[in-house]
Amino acid sequence: MTAHGDVRTTLADGSEMWARVTTHPLTDETGKIVGYVEHMKDVTEERKASDALMAKTEELERFFTVALDLLAIADTSGRFVRLNAAWEDTLGLSITELEGMNFMDLVHPEDREPTENALADLRATRQVIGFVNRYRTSDGSYRYIEWRSHPHRGLVYAAARDVTDRIEREEAALAASRAKSEFLANMSHELRTPLNGIVGFSDLLVESDLVEPYRSYAENVHISAETLMTLINDVLDFSKIEAGKMELEMQEVDLGQLLRNAAQSVRMGAESKGLDLVLSVDERLPEAIETDPYRLTQVIVNLLSNAVKFTEYGFVQLRTEVLTADDERARLRFSVRDTGVGIEPQHQDAIFDSFTQADPSTTRRFGGTGLGLAISNRILEQLDSNLELESEPGTGSTFSFELEVSLPAAGESSLSATGDATEAAPASTDAAAPAPADAVGRSHDDRDVGPVRILVAEDEKINRLVTRRMIDRLVSNAEVVTANDGRHAVEAFASGEFDLVFMDVQMPEMDGYEATMAIREAEGPDRRTPLIALTAGVVQGERERCLDAGMDDYVSKPVDLKRLEEALTKWLPAGKGDA
Ligand code: ADP
Repeated sequence: MTAHGDVRTTLADGSEMWARVTTHPLTDETGKIVGYVEHMKDVTEERKASDALMAKTEELERFFTVALDLLAIADTSGRFVRLNAAWEDTLGLSITELEGMNFMDLVHPEDREPTENALADLRATRQVIGFVNRYRTSDGSYRYIEWRSHPHRGLVYAAARDVTDRIEREEAALAASRAKSEFLANMSHELRTPLNGIVGFSDLLVESDLVEPYRSYAENVHISAETLMTLINDVLDFSKIEAGKMELEMQEVDLGQLLRNAAQSVRMGAESKGLDLVLSVDERLPEAIETDPYRLTQVIVNLLSNAVKFTEYGFVQLRTEVLTADDERARLRFSVRDTGVGIEPQHQDAIFDSFTQADPSTTRRFGGTGLGLAISNRILEQLDSNLELESEPGTGSTFSFELEVSLPAAGESSLSATGDATEAAPASTDAAAPAPADAVGRSHDDRDVGPVRILVAEDEKINRLVTRRMIDRLVSNAEVVTANDGRHAVEAFASGEFDLVFMDVQMPEMDGYEATMAIREAEGPDRRTPLIALTAGVVQGERERCLDAGMDDYVSKPVDLKRLEEALTKWLPAGKGDA
């Protein structure tokens, strides 16, 4: 019988040697052992190698056991082959339960398809990094697991991590930020209601026969109210964008008209500073484009008013160029150039951030919230564009952006169809449209037209009063009937003939949409009384909903004399109303 074993010996020089000793017995003819032959082989290197391998394996095994990360080997059919102990803590299931299980059974049903896709990537020997899915635990709740997986010879080696806490924190932070923005949006809306009263009544005061110093007191109240309104609108817009609540309302737009209106709204300011306001329009400019007219106007007016604000001498130019165009689409470039103070290179990036101004001293010198450019940029982001700036201190600035727009199909343009709802829409943009020529005084003939009957539905007492007084001022033979909610408006409408209806949108009992539908229903197909919404313009898609409900136009709050006059001029039947 042969025996062998490894023996460690220390050599004379102190080094170690492993010897593999093989012992053969020597026997005589009867089979009796008479001695042994020993072979000795130096296996030091071999022993060292295998010891090292063993140590490494044990080391890896220890890492596998102590790792806080979730380690797993699985096959690409979705079966766990090996798991480390960390899984037990995370999922509350024992390793023996888990191994051999199809892990897809643990994946949240909604995450199964993305998980299948990740597995397909792994089968195609692509590694997967940062993939997150949810796993069911023993108590039925789910944990978010983030994976880093690597395919190798038909197996998947994965290191994963329980990221539930992180994801919950992120979600909570997002929810908190949304809630904050929503609060701001609600707050701004609440602020507008009393402000409507202040703007409206101070407007009436300014227009009345006041003597000094009461006239200038009233004018100052009026200017302050308008400024406050602009600020609130900025904050509201910004919070709406932050809360993810701003939606574009795309429609067919007469671009030339939009540009003229935008320029018009800053003309007075420019002229009072002695600045030239130049509008340069590319002659190839398409007549109509598809865009959100309110938002595009807002961006252009913001750039124009900044240019006027920061320029003391020279000019402000609004320029439009057609970069490319075919029958369906066009690429346009809009730019606003001024010869003003310019912006230092180190401030050029920061001014696009919210609440930031180029130089803190500008706040004191020029006022402003530092929100205008941030809002403009967010709006442009939604239109797949962004603001660009070229500026040299002391020489001037050019803000520009490019827009890719689709063009309404030829022959389908609705712009020339008068009375069309989409055309009526831009009347309520905040950018002042050119003042209507002779306002309401369109019936200077000698006919006896009788009183103009106007129904005003509005739940806020002060706002009811201010609208009534404004109408009284604009239309001397007006007979105004008021209703304090939608239901009363419908009743009042049924009990008399009206030439026009102003309808607040948000009212208790019955809102403006419902009331409008009820009125249209009551009128039948042969009659259509002009019905104009008074909107706070806060609720998403409000304008479109107004038109869908059967209204003809809308005036955004705060209602001032000018806007009301425009609406009356436009919608009072010809021959009705004198100013
Ligand atoms: P604000 O309400 O303060 O004007 P904006 O976001 O519109 O907010 O502008 C931010 C800052 O960018 C301004 O305070 C000003 O410092 C700078 N700025 C904007 N437009 C111009 C311009 N045309 N010329 C010089 N500086 C400008």
